Amino acid sequence: MTSYVSLTLQERHLHKLKDRLLHQDGRERAAYLICGEVFIPSDPWNGRSHRQYLSFDILPIPEEEIVSRSSQHITWKTDSFVRALKLAQAKGMTVALIHSHPGGFATFSDQDDINEPDLVELAQNRNGETTRLLSVVLTSEGDLVGRCWVNPEEYEPLALICSIGNRIQLHYPGRGEGVPSPVFHRQSLAFGKALTQDLSILRVGLVGCGGTGSAVAMLLPKLGVRQIALFDKDVVEESNLNRLHGATWADVQEQRPKVEVIERSIAALGIGIQVKSYQAWIGDPECRDALKSCDIVFSCTDDHAGRLLLNRFAYYYLTPVFDMGLAIEVSSSDPPEIQALDGRVTTLLPECTCLLCREVINPVIARDETLKREQPDEYERRKAEAYVLGEGNPSPAVVLFTTDVAIMALEEMVHRFQGFRGEEGAVAQRVRKYHLLTDRRQGARVNEYCPVCSTDECWGRGDVEPFLDQV
Ligand SMILES: [Zn+2]
Ligand SMILES: [Zn+2]
Repeated sequence: MTSYVSLTLQERHLHKLKDRLLHQDGRERAAYLICGEVFIPSDPWNGRSHRQYLSFDILPIPEEEIVSRSSQHITWKTDSFVRALKLAQAKGMTVALIHSHPGGFATFSDQDDINEPDLVELAQNRNGETTRLLSVVLTSEGDLVGRCWVNPEEYEPLALICSIGNRIQLHYPGRGEGVPSPVFHRQSLAFGKALTQDLSILRVGLVGCGGTGSAVAMLLPKLGVRQIALFDKDVVEESNLNRLHGATWADVQEQRPKVEVIERSIAALGIGIQVKSYQAWIGDPECRDALKSCDIVFSCTDDHAGRLLLNRFAYYYLTPVFDMGLAIEVSSSDPPEIQALDGRVTTLLPECTCLLCREVINPVIARDETLKREQPDEYERRKAEAYVLGEGNPSPAVVLFTTDVAIMALEEMVHRFQGFRGEEGAVAQRVRKYHLLTDRRQGARVNEYCPVCSTDECWGRGDVEPFLDQV
């Protein structure tokens, strides 16, 4: 079985490439991309190994190195290629060559087939025989097609190329072809067929399967998502029944894991959705490959340590994370008076302000949660001495708002794929104030020392040791 190879581009890189490579004069142009690497030995859904490349930086080819070019070809000196190889080797990354086909053909030409093996040979001679070279064609229509050279005689096609940012765009063979299932006919009438097809090939992760997470889980299959990973270590408790979609009294009595209850509800739909369940904390090693395999993640967890991990993950792995929260604050009177009733959705991606800078994550609580998980005795001792914040009273939760926040997050995802809100429709952080009947778009100041969102050094870094540079 061949491996599954894909490429993810940061939207800002794609915009830059389009500016540089697509010119009025209709002649071919080229540039190099330095790409972070992700390796998943066995994809949880199909068992194949998966290699993913992530755009990290662009290296232009200077004009003086161009030997000749027309609308059909381009040749250049390899000086900048050697510079790209050197940089990639130093960072443990891979070089991608990207060139334009102004004529509009989203296929490799005979000339490409002749030229590229020489570059592969040069790359392997310089950086070692396991070095791979990616090659991507960009057409004037904005179509992308690519391949990954394993050696000068052999390449694997890129099964998926996506760009992520304010808009999420997918390029894969057969997009827009084929007959969609009648199940999604009415949705296609609103949003077109491509959205359903796009969602059907994605792997979507759901971290936290409580009130909000269960609502996301019930709706994903109805939008056309077919591969879902569920992450939650908890079992169903009586106090969950007011908002956990699909959970029953019997689940409480039998202490069934939340992931199992949700998997059962999705299976009952009978439309062939593949669910992978992980009854574990998202940072546990057993979750790692599944998390890395996900193209989109919904973060519905209420633990700060889990959020902290996903906050880094989005930027290192160029995987959009939609993080949700509900904050209900009430007075101590009886009946209580609502002081705040806020639903929040934050999108985590390069160029977006992270959860630390937005002060959504409390690093002290995250630290205490980690202590509790890893050294429960020490945690109890410090708790007795009041050195840790400990758990407060349970926070208020109402099914109307947990479900609505889930819908806000799904809406944000659908917009980024389909664009129904128009040009300026992507919202980095949306807060719905239910008691005030208002929606707010919230900006945020980036902490200039934030290691996650104030610098692009980790954006598209991919696999590093230790995972996410966490110490
Ligand atoms: Zn070409
Ligand atoms: Zn930040």
